[in-house]
Amino acid sequence: MKTTGLSHICGGALVRKRVEKLVHGGDHTAVVEVDAEVCEHCGERLYSVETVRRMEDIRAKLAMRDTSEFVPIGQTFQVKQEGPTAG
Ligand SMILES: [Zn+2]
Repeated sequence: MKTTGLSHICGGALVRKRVEKLVHGGDHTAVVEVDAEVCEHCGERLYSVETVRRMEDIRAKLAMRDTSEFVPIGQTFQVKQEGPTAG
């Protein structure tokens, strides 16, 4: 593993990893594999400018329902938060 920097949050070492990122646009969600620098202590993720741009591009396409180049992998469901539990 290659250490690339330090977390801004906790000062832990950042490790370059391939991660799955959920990108939301309109009603749609896409799972995108991206490279990120991840802090193994607090989970902070840093993305490169190119990665952020790519995610924004995908978000815009989702919002416009321009999903022809994406592969459907199933439905995404929202689970409503349950009410406060007594106890
Ligand atoms: Zn951290």
